[in-house]
Amino acid sequence: MSELIESGSTFVEPAPSALDEEVQEILLKIDKSAESAPKGPKVTQSAIKGFFDDTKCKIRWSRIYQNGEQIDDSDPEGVLNKGLYFEYHLLGATRDGKPPKPFPLTNRGGKYKWHEDLDNQIEEARMVMKKLQIKPVRIQGEITAGTDQAHYDLIALFEDPQHLSTLNLNQTSLCLFDIKWTETRKDDKWKGWAEPEYNQDAMIQAKHYIHVFFKATGVLIPFYFLVFGKTGWVRLIRVGVTDGALAAHHNLILRYQQKLQEFQPYPIRDWETCLSCGFLSSCEYSVDRPIVQEILI
Ligand code: SF4
Repeated sequence: MSELIESGSTFVEPAPSALDEEVQEILLKIDKSAESAPKGPKVTQSAIKGFFDDTKCKIRWSRIYQNGEQIDDSDPEGVLNKGLYFEYHLLGATRDGKPPKPFPLTNRGGKYKWHEDLDNQIEEARMVMKKLQIKPVRIQGEITAGTDQAHYDLIALFEDPQHLSTLNLNQTSLCLFDIKWTETRKDDKWKGWAEPEYNQDAMIQAKHYIHVFFKATGVLIPFYFLVFGKTGWVRLIRVGVTDGALAAHHNLILRYQQKLQEFQPYPIRDWETCLSCGFLSSCEYSVDRPIVQEILI
């Protein structure tokens, strides 16, 4: 296999002819699966997570996942936009094709220190990926299988010696990768990545991607989180799934689809959430002041 990672500013997808026949075949199955998928809303990991998360507004959820409305209410200096900037400049693309919002500049028109630090970290991340010999095959795309869908950062070739020993994996070195940038500390086990197995959102994402890939291709591959911390730490986390976990995820999707049939959107009734919601100006359910919390003793 030739070196697929460019030494330039971004990674590039290799021409199909540069890939092994087995890999070409798998990619072809992904394309065919997408072509035969029915139209309409898809079951994505973020739709599932938002649907079952009681802290999320179901009016907002419905507008995004049922009506297909697009909203970007991230703050240009917020962690979401910084993460997008990181991905955009590391991989050369973002999931929906939109570049990050421009960062503010100093009074003299230069970059803030945090902006320069982020740029340096992107360079370092590129070196880390080269060192690990992660070879992107497809960058930022979708896998669709029936009504299920996964938006991946990378499908890549990656020779992880441990991965071949995982019981139920086919002998291919194809893997799914999700790249994360975070401001959390390396040892943060509450909001960060210190104990990813207890991060339910992350585990749903990993299971969903493996499930959709398997449904589209018949091949079971591992899922990696490659996490870059603001202070320079890096974690590479491999998620393999047991047959039981895959079956449980399949049941979760069925439960989601059943509940959806009788679902009626309802608002969250939380002032702070509405204040930062991009639908605020067009939402008849928004609250404009703190709600009374009643306690009867
Ligand atoms: S403005 Fe409030 S109620 Fe309306 S969608 Fe947003 S979070 Fe929900």
